[in-house]
Amino acid sequence: MTAIHKNHSNEDKIIRKIFIAFVTSLSFSAVQAQTTQEQPGADLIILNAKIFTGNRAQPEASALAIKEGRIYSVGSDVDILDLKNFKTQVIDARSRRLIPGIIDAHTHVLNDMAYNYNVRWDGVPTLRRALTMLSEQAARTPEGQWVKVIGGWSPSQFEENRFPTLAELHEAVPDRPMIVQYAYNRAFLNKQAMEALGVGTDRFPKLPDTEFEKDSRGNPTGVVHGYTWLFLALETMVPQPTLDEQVSSIVYSIHGLNRVGVTSIIDNGGRWPYPEAQARVDVLARDNRLNVRMPFVDLQLGDGGPANMVDLELKAITKTAPISPGQNLHPTLAHGHEYRGAGEVLSGEVHDHENFDRPAVIIAPEKMRRFVEQDVMKLIQRRIPFRMHASYDENISPFLDALEKVNETTPLDGLKWSLEHAETISPENIDRVKKLGGGIALDAKMALHADGFIKTYSREKALETPRLRTLVDSGIPLAMTTDAFRAATFNPWVGISWMVTGKSVSGSEVLAENNRLSRAEALKLFTSGAAWFMNAEAELGVIAPGNLADFAVLDRDYFAVPEDQISSISSVLTIMDGKVVFGAQDYSALSPKLPEILPAWSPVKYFGSYHGEK
Ligand SMILES: [Zn+2]
Repeated sequence: MTAIHKNHSNEDKIIRKIFIAFVTSLSFSAVQAQTTQEQPGADLIILNAKIFTGNRAQPEASALAIKEGRIYSVGSDVDILDLKNFKTQVIDARSRRLIPGIIDAHTHVLNDMAYNYNVRWDGVPTLRRALTMLSEQAARTPEGQWVKVIGGWSPSQFEENRFPTLAELHEAVPDRPMIVQYAYNRAFLNKQAMEALGVGTDRFPKLPDTEFEKDSRGNPTGVVHGYTWLFLALETMVPQPTLDEQVSSIVYSIHGLNRVGVTSIIDNGGRWPYPEAQARVDVLARDNRLNVRMPFVDLQLGDGGPANMVDLELKAITKTAPISPGQNLHPTLAHGHEYRGAGEVLSGEVHDHENFDRPAVIIAPEKMRRFVEQDVMKLIQRRIPFRMHASYDENISPFLDALEKVNETTPLDGLKWSLEHAETISPENIDRVKKLGGGIALDAKMALHADGFIKTYSREKALETPRLRTLVDSGIPLAMTTDAFRAATFNPWVGISWMVTGKSVSGSEVLAENNRLSRAEALKLFTSGAAWFMNAEAELGVIAPGNLADFAVLDRDYFAVPEDQISSISSVLTIMDGKVVFGAQDYSALSPKLPEILPAWSPVKYFGSYHGEK
């Protein structure tokens, strides 16, 4: 029996070998047939560009060739033109600067599904203009809707260098409810909004550290100060966008990003949890209309009561809608909509809100230790990457104390994790993060809010916040991000300008001279540095053969313009995955046509997403 059995299995082996040979020869001839039919050569060639590749082996070039969404050759015009066939699309960059596509490794597109409802003051140079925008918008806002500005601006950006007064706001928006939110720090409400939100009644969310400014008679004026949770709660009490308006909001917020050269973002969680938020993106992914790579991390706030956010996350990804780290929900786009783990808030109890108008929020070290030992531990055991919001060094120290301890028994062993923001991290703690294999995703909030920070702390402290030079020199995986759309503007060039010039949007010096970066270093933090957080450092962030074809042709040469022009740079041609996602000036005809914006009264339709767009 044994012998016969053996024979059988030998026969099986032989049959399998023949079968494999047969299949291989079949696929071989199929490939041959295909290559004889298809012309060799590029799908798209860009010529006559000043290319900053970010690739140290070939730092500069003038042309590149793309096939099937990847760059496959970078070189001189003559060399690359040799790769043209009769079908190749050729674009002349007309000596413009070309850079790798910008990666914003920490932003919140999916938290702003009401994006199309909001007036964006991003980049608006005067308060006068900002107020005019409100009154224009009030006139076209239908009954039942609000006039809203939800973050992305700072009073320091205005020539007037101040906040609007309530009188000015009332005059601009007399007969619609109005909220003007400054970062996650404060909001200005008119009478109709105060009534709708139930200011002074039980309906107004009861959250710690909420403060109303009062008039001489003790009545709330309409200015309210608070932290992140308050402003997230208020967002649930205003008119909500329909499903179609939510999808349209995603389309138009991405359009605004493409306009400034962004080709990848990591969505860092928000009000809508997985898988609800991702279903909106799926509508675009299905028709291949998602114009940005959008990996995401997820946070689960629960239903408002006390909740263990890590347990809720584990439930969402194992029971509600099973998904693994690295799994891509986009059917065709690499890193299109990939789950990148838990974050940026892993527990409401240890959240240090970064409101620079107030002193630092310090978490009890014991609480932090318990959180790491119990909750972060679960993520490490299950090999789920995580990103941890931690603004202040005082909170980073106990977090690292506990993480080092956990690492002794439950090793991180190359698991990707990072600190988010880390504004005031010390050199010692940078080293400790590095030893544990972590990364740091900084943000450019100081470009907008440093003037407020100086009032709360001091200029000396601002000048070394964050320690950009030490961070870059440490060699730690490092990204600069925007943390848009509320805490700061989504425009990466505002942050790049701050890193290079050391100046905030008010023009005042807020970074010490020895704490600034070269233009190449600053750009790197928004390209190859950021690719680490997408787990895509081998194929994104640098222009080199084999890499994904994401890049931007700029309206001005970033490396040559005077410093004061850096913040107003935008893209004239943005290419993601080898296809044009944005075109302006001589490339506007190449720009994909977007569906009509919803709703029809959307401020984005009239003002665009950034000052100067329309
Ligand atoms: Zn954060």
